[in-house]
Formats: sequence, C-alpha cells, structure tokens
Amino acid sequence: MFSTKKGQIALISVHGDPAVKIGKEEAGGQNVYVRQVGEALAKQGWQVDMFTRRAEPTQEAIVEHSPGCRTIRLTAGPQKFVGRNKLFDYLPEFVEAFLSFQQQEGIVYPLVHTNYWLSSWVGMELRKRQPIKQIHTYHSLGAVKYQASTTVPLIASTRLSIEKTCLETVDCVVATSPQERDHMRSLVSTKGNIDIIPCGTDIRRFGAVDRQTARQQLGISPETKVVLYVGRFDPRKGIETLVRAVNYPEVRQHSDFKLMIAGGSRPGQSDGDERERIEGIVNELKLGDRTEFVGRLDHTQLPTYYAAADVCVVPSHYEPFGLVAIEAMASGTPVVASDVGGLQFTVVPEETGLLAPAQDEAAFAAAIGRILADPTWRDQLSKASRQRVEARFSWDGVASQLSELYLSHLSQLHNEFFSASVS
Ligand code: UDP
Repeated sequence: MFSTKKGQIALISVHGDPAVKIGKEEAGGQNVYVRQVGEALAKQGWQVDMFTRRAEPTQEAIVEHSPGCRTIRLTAGPQKFVGRNKLFDYLPEFVEAFLSFQQQEGIVYPLVHTNYWLSSWVGMELRKRQPIKQIHTYHSLGAVKYQASTTVPLIASTRLSIEKTCLETVDCVVATSPQERDHMRSLVSTKGNIDIIPCGTDIRRFGAVDRQTARQQLGISPETKVVLYVGRFDPRKGIETLVRAVNYPEVRQHSDFKLMIAGGSRPGQSDGDERERIEGIVNELKLGDRTEFVGRLDHTQLPTYYAAADVCVVPSHYEPFGLVAIEAMASGTPVVASDVGGLQFTVVPEETGLLAPAQDEAAFAAAIGRILADPTWRDQLSKASRQRVEARFSWDGVASQLSELYLSHLSQLHNEFFSASVS
C-alpha cells in the first residue's frame, strides 16, 4: 500500500496560496517557500500537490506550475480574502474538501507537509482519519510573535495551544534556523522531533544581473548610494526604523543617496494603512525627494533592484527566517538586518553584512553608513554573501534535504503498516 519511493505528497498551506502574486497583504515568504519547495521537489521526482484555500471566485481550482507540481484550491469559507486570524472556523470545511478531493482522485497522500499553525491543525485532523506522516513548518511562532507585539488577537490562545500540540505530536517539525529551533524548545515545548532545514532561494535568478546593467536599466547613476527595502507593509517589518535611520548624518552625509522601498499595498487594507503611515514619516522627515516607493515587484523584476542596491536593509522586529536577506545576498548585495531570529543565521556580521538591534534606528544608521562609506569593503561583503547563499541556501539543496526527511518517514510508515498487517 505505501511506497517508500518518491511518490505523491501534499503540501498544505491554507492561507498562503503558492500560486498568487507575492508582496501584497499576507502574501510573502510562506507563499514563496511552498511554491519553490514544491517545484524543486517535483524536479527531484515527487508528484507534488499544494493545497490552499480559494480566496476569490475567479481563481482557478487547479493551477499546473510545472511537470509534477500543481496548486489545488479548495473551497472552505467565503470565496474572498479572509485574514489569517479569522480562518480557524473554516478549517473543518477545508479538511472535508481535502478528503473529498482525495476520494475523487482515488488517492491517499501518505505524507503531508503542513505550513503555518492553521495548516498544522488540518494535518493533525487528517492524521486522525488516515495513516499518514505529517511534517510541519511553522513560518512564524505565536509564542515569539506575541512577545514582540502590544496587541494580541482573540485567536492567540487557540494558536498557542495548537502550536504546542503540533510540536509534541507530529512526526517532525522543520525549523528553518537554529534560532527558530531554540525558540521552539524554550517557548513551546521540550517534547517532539525537530530537524533544521533552512529556507532557500533561486540562485540562478538572484545574481543573474550585474550591478552596472541593473543601474542602467533602472536609470540610477553609478555614484548614487542606494539603500533598498523589499517586503510587505506591516509594522512588524520595521520600515519605520529604516526610514528614521536614513535621516541620520551617517547616511544623509552622502549627498546622492536614495531609499527605495519595494512592496505592494492595498488601499483600505491593513498594509495600505501601514504604507500611508510610512509615507507620513517620510514626509515629516523631509525625505520625499530621496525616497521612492516602487510598488510590488515580482521575481523577474526583483533581481535588478537587489543588484542595483549598495545595501539591502531588513529591519524586522522579528523574522523566523527572512527570505529577502538571502535573495539580496544571492544578488551580491550586503544586508543590514535586525539581530533577531533567522537573520542571525543567514547574515554573518562583518562577513556578509551587519546586524543591529531591532528598532534601534541609530544602530541601523551606523551600520548602513559604514557600508556606504567603504566601497571596497562593500564589494568584499558582496562576494562573501553570494558564496554563503550558494553553499547553504539554494532551493535545490533545501529540497534534497526535505526529500531525505520525507523518505525516512515514508519508510517508517511502510514498516508500521507492514508490522500491523502481519500481527
Ligand atoms: N516579495 C516580492 N515582491 C515584493 C515584496 C516581496 O516578491 O514586492 C517577496 C520577497 O522577494 C520574498 C517574500 O516576498 O520572497 C518575503 O519573504 P520574507 O521571508 O522576507 O518575509 P515574509 O513576507 O514571509 O514576512
């Protein structure tokens, strides 16, 4: 019944649709992770179905991405955007829709890899109904997130308890950095299996454009000092810290500096509010003529922006991994990041960039200023950044590690099934 060879597997990402455009409200690293992991696993011989919730009636139910890799949108709750804190009630419907899909297709996925706590609940429900293995990636831990925020949503206690049950009972939790594993152990539970497998990036795409070409394409002169932010508009991303930092003399002394802020927002949504707030700070500090809001960029455009920048800043209050840092590094751009979470793993201070305490605008200003002031050192950081990503963070490498993990759990499932059927 169960094959120990590469076969059909399900990646479940209830709220992070792997087929949508990235960079807008609630579409970020998780969507990229699921999509890239899915495609890389398919290249390695797995049949990958990625399950998500349909959030618009016009969305296709099935999207084929590449041979062996597709997104399947299940109907669970209203076919409109619903924030992740309001999705929990629709999960039983998601489980039923998943089971119906299996029935229609005549398959049972022997292994599900769930993403984010909402999907972990779906996976744990499926495990009650059928003999499967569950691997889980948190992407964000409630226990860490709520520590760093002043307001806690109503769903918080449910989330914390599900995250604990998940760590203690699923077959394996994948931490994307040693820092995330430490948080799980100190804040969630000392029980349960954890493996560390990092996130990855497309090292062919990021790094394909050289700096000179990139600047020509974007109309930026070789002398301009470019400071870049890429990501969602969310207060937790710390864009305010960056904007305030570039107003310090260490950065402002460069008469020709430019702050580029990439990322989409929707008026009337929470990311639209954050964008307005950030624009307000830019205007208050009279940085309007130095700042460009370039909007949402896709992964065909982003390599040019990373390559054109002198430094990429990731000022998040907390970041479990932080894909933007490794995308910039793969593009040969040094990173100044908050000294938190996965950024402590990806950025090596003084070697590939610098770390500064989260929300400390003076420390960010000093770090950005040091890199802008020394182009020779900046180029050394650039080379080391690229090398670090090539060695540790390619999607193909990440998929190989996940593949091994899946195979070992499938072999256990096979043995369990075999011993149950002979006893
Ligand atoms: N991103 C994008 N276009 C944008 C802004 C962001 O494609 O305009 C992508 C970015 O390249 C990265 C992801 O969104 O792959 C953000 O992931 P990260 O882990 O840095 O942050 P998260 O959004 O998960 O908090």
